[in-house]
Amino acid sequence: MTTNLYIDTRGKHEHPVTFTEALVKGLADGGGLFVPESIPHFTRNEILSLASMPYAKRAAFVYKALNPDLDASLIDELMEKTYGDRFDTEEICPITSLDETTHILELWHGPTSAFKDMALQCLPHFFNASAEKLRTEGKLDTSFLILVATSGDTGKAALEGFKDQDNIRIAVMYPDGGVSDIQYKQMATQEGNNVMVWAVGGNFDDCQTGAKRVFNDEAFNEKLAESYHVALSSANSINWGRLLPQIVYYLSSYAQLVKDGKLEAGATLDVCVPTGNFGNILAAWYAKQMGAPLGTLFCASNENRVLTDFINTGVYDISQRDFVLTPSPSMDILVSSNMERQLFELTGRNAEAIRQWMDDLSQKKAFSVDEDTLQKLQADFASDSVDNATCLKTIKDVFETYHYLIDPHTAVAVKVAENLRTENPVLIASTAHWAKFGENVYRALHDIELGGQLPEDVAALSGCDLNNKIADETGDHNIPEGLAKLDSMPIRFTDTIQGSLESIEDAVQAFISKE
Ligand SMILES: *Cc1c(COP(=O)(O)O)cnc(C)c1O
Repeated sequence: MTTNLYIDTRGKHEHPVTFTEALVKGLADGGGLFVPESIPHFTRNEILSLASMPYAKRAAFVYKALNPDLDASLIDELMEKTYGDRFDTEEICPITSLDETTHILELWHGPTSAFKDMALQCLPHFFNASAEKLRTEGKLDTSFLILVATSGDTGKAALEGFKDQDNIRIAVMYPDGGVSDIQYKQMATQEGNNVMVWAVGGNFDDCQTGAKRVFNDEAFNEKLAESYHVALSSANSINWGRLLPQIVYYLSSYAQLVKDGKLEAGATLDVCVPTGNFGNILAAWYAKQMGAPLGTLFCASNENRVLTDFINTGVYDISQRDFVLTPSPSMDILVSSNMERQLFELTGRNAEAIRQWMDDLSQKKAFSVDEDTLQKLQADFASDSVDNATCLKTIKDVFETYHYLIDPHTAVAVKVAENLRTENPVLIASTAHWAKFGENVYRALHDIELGGQLPEDVAALSGCDLNNKIADETGDHNIPEGLAKLDSMPIRFTDTIQGSLESIEDAVQAFISKE
């Protein structure tokens, strides 16, 4: 059987690449994104059968159907490593039902308590196995430095995923003073012998721009390859290896709901996803293509509502849009990169149309799709946005009604599901544990507006102590261990660097020349 190959959304690659090549490359030449040439289709029984397997087997089942150029037994082994005891429950992503037709998919049981663990626990194993294979075939002669700019969540999840992997180092840059106490401690206490964390003088944009300039500095990249046999890579959310693990839990959740007697086999299940880069919700769309009986996919936005406007009008316009800070920072995004994959699929894989739209986006800061594409988009998706005050109010309402505490990202999705749902049951993706965002959860529960002053004694608490206070007040004592122990962990990283190209490159070189 020949393996599945990967084509790119802008049609600029001369020939399709293998799974392992797509994984190690991340972005296609010419700026496009990789998608598999053929998408498998599962029968109803195959999907339902997932519920009788442990989660690692469910993931392996889906991956093997995509037919990558890795041995089936290796995939089994990697999934055992990925979805094992690094998660705090054997179920990996359990479902809590608020009522008979409202189901919350808890995607935050991994080591960093955010949904990015679902993919970033998995990607490094695939990345490493892929690099190893390419080395054996003589197609690769470097090790890797994963360089990540983060506004908080991604950096920690990437550090945990890549720590102690062979032939890979990881360095993370976060804005100095620009992350919460919990997020800072999560990164500064990071364990592992191949990791580095830098605070960058500046904001997230300075980190991201700095990282991009390092990636684009050809002379520096050549020097790294020649002097150190190191290549830079980014592992960001456009890598197919991050999307793939997310498809699994939509197929798997459907089967689980049926097994638990909460859903009739074959019934249509709507899905609501708090959306930023469009990765998580695109995964739900692929799960639907693969045969899961999913209905409308609700795209939930915060005040950065570019996706809501796009889905409702067909016009993606960021020319006049200000970037708004919200209590759900992981959804504060204007250019939602995975939409490119979605449009490629909805246009019947029309790379020419994608090239045109992406050119318009970079030159005119806007593009608009044709009527046919808009209709297809609206056949699968509906979208709404939630303002900051409503987001916080939803946290309080859900707690008072169901005695269930949610984080601000999940709150956006809960509210949008409430606004858009029909008679269908709905699965809501919960993407972070509340204790990652304790300050705003406290504000929500005490009717303090966003940015409003906390009482003096509360403001003086560490992130961990504030979480304990919330736990005492609400009776929700299930704070994940990784967050609860942060105050007692030694700080390992204290370096501050500047966001300039020179400063980052000096730091990179110092890190990789160290044994
Ligand atoms: C990354 C993230 C999101 C957004 O997911 P996308 O795949 O980028 O749409 C939502 N919530 C949390 C907590 C996240 O970390």
